[in-house]
Amino acid sequence: DDNITLEYQITIFGRNERLMLVRDITRLHRLEQMRKDFVANVSHELRTPLTVINGYLETFADYSDQLPPRWSRATQQMQQQSRRMQNIINDLLLLSRLETTDIEGQQQTIDIEKMMTSIRQDALLLSSEKKHLIKIENNCTAAILGSENELRSAFSNLVFNAVKYTPSESTILMRWQETPIGATLTVEDNGEGIDARHLPRLTERFYRVDKGRSADTGGTGLGLAIVKHVLLRHNAKLEIKSIKGEGSQFHCHFPLARLKFQQADYIQPPA
Ligand code: ADP
Repeated sequence: DDNITLEYQITIFGRNERLMLVRDITRLHRLEQMRKDFVANVSHELRTPLTVINGYLETFADYSDQLPPRWSRATQQMQQQSRRMQNIINDLLLLSRLETTDIEGQQQTIDIEKMMTSIRQDALLLSSEKKHLIKIENNCTAAILGSENELRSAFSNLVFNAVKYTPSESTILMRWQETPIGATLTVEDNGEGIDARHLPRLTERFYRVDKGRSADTGGTGLGLAIVKHVLLRHNAKLEIKSIKGEGSQFHCHFPLARLKFQQADYIQPPA
């Protein structure tokens, strides 16, 4: 609905009256829709030319031993940067899909232990020489009802961030745990942590704590925005806790309605 309506019950000179405030937000909605369409269109239009450029760069790279060293180095640089651009465009397209489509119709029962194990494998590859200790803790028997692809990309983002933004040999923990109101998936690290003043803006698109360094890690600056939107679509909430110098915790809180508990084993009634 394009209007926000607030209704108050007020008392004037001892008489009960009703006061209604209506604010028309049609224009705001229209602007927001224009922004979403614009981003989606730009990303889509940039994809084709970039694919062509990448194709030619690959051909150059195939013949790099026949190129003068300076050219071969330049080709490598161009390839690296255009891959980065491709990642940004893919993430932007994913984000606009998350904003504009409905999650209904893609509900699966997701085995979280299995998902954590497979994300751990990928994270170990990414970590390789940084030799992280990546642990899994599972204290919850429930599965999540949702989109497997989306949740996998959200959780991977959190775990890969922990790998990227912590020094060698840090510990990363993935924990799936029941809570009184649902269940929580946590990704925790004992890395450098994030200064409190950055926390409120961390899930904004392209917001980075350290611009130069984040670009080096190959990130797009869209990871946490994607996480936030995937969770929103699953009626879940992202909570970020971090202490500079000690480490960070990213909690994904899922409500009961999103969980599927295993059927209790049938107990034979006494004869
Ligand atoms: P990026 O592509 O830059 O990683 P994200 O949206 O995933 O973008 O993250 C935003 C910023 O949050 C990162 O640039 C980094 O500064 C900070 N950040 C994310 N995860 C962590 C973490 N586990 N430890 C420290 N800083 C982090």
